[in-house]
Amino acid sequence: MDIKANTSSLLKILPGHVRLVAVSKTKSIAEIKASYEAGQRIFGENKIQEMASKWEALPKDISWHMIGHVQRNKVKYMAPFVDLIHGVESLKLLEEIQKQALKNNRVQHCLIQIRIAEEESKFGLPPDQLNAVLEAAESMSHVEVIGLMGMATFTEDQAQISSEFKSLNSLFEASKKNWPKLTTLSMGMSGDYPLAIQCGSNMIRVGSKIFGERNY
Ligand SMILES: *Cc1c(COP(=O)(O)O)cnc(C)c1O
Repeated sequence: MDIKANTSSLLKILPGHVRLVAVSKTKSIAEIKASYEAGQRIFGENKIQEMASKWEALPKDISWHMIGHVQRNKVKYMAPFVDLIHGVESLKLLEEIQKQALKNNRVQHCLIQIRIAEEESKFGLPPDQLNAVLEAAESMSHVEVIGLMGMATFTEDQAQISSEFKSLNSLFEASKKNWPKLTTLSMGMSGDYPLAIQCGSNMIRVGSKIFGERNY
């Protein structure tokens, strides 16, 4: 895998309004540095301990995104340095984020993860609860919800993926009318990012396409 070349070519073909989160979970410091050298500055991880040790070891102009499922008791470890938490799916979690952000004297940017996949196992807030959560977030001094995130069903069926992405984009567009702070729509991974961009995504989370397959 030529990580530097993969990063460069992906950065080159992306439309200007689409930001790339390079998903570096399980990958080494050296591998992340290779992508960094190609100009990549946003990296995504799904385990806070792993992310914190990489944050300590790597240049401080890297923006770290938490893309995984977030447990409430782990928020305190994110609050000092994570730039964007993608997987917020409950008001209780948002309240804990507010508490920890306040302690750290930071405003924590968050995305609300919406349940768009038909399959049962996926995380996320049911779309009909979004307004209530956004309403509650308004009164939180140290939380700023800047957009939505979603994951499509794990399937080869392009029509199904497309329809799930389109439904998230419609929710995003409709919500923006009431909540102008919503600017970011995080959807699309290695297998489906071109489709996600067609469906309105402006932030993609790409791992294996840059770093190669993961060995868990
Ligand atoms: C691992 C992961 C990705 C990246 O997956 P690839 O298929 O390797 O691009 C994107 N989003 C989330 C939430 C992930 O956990």
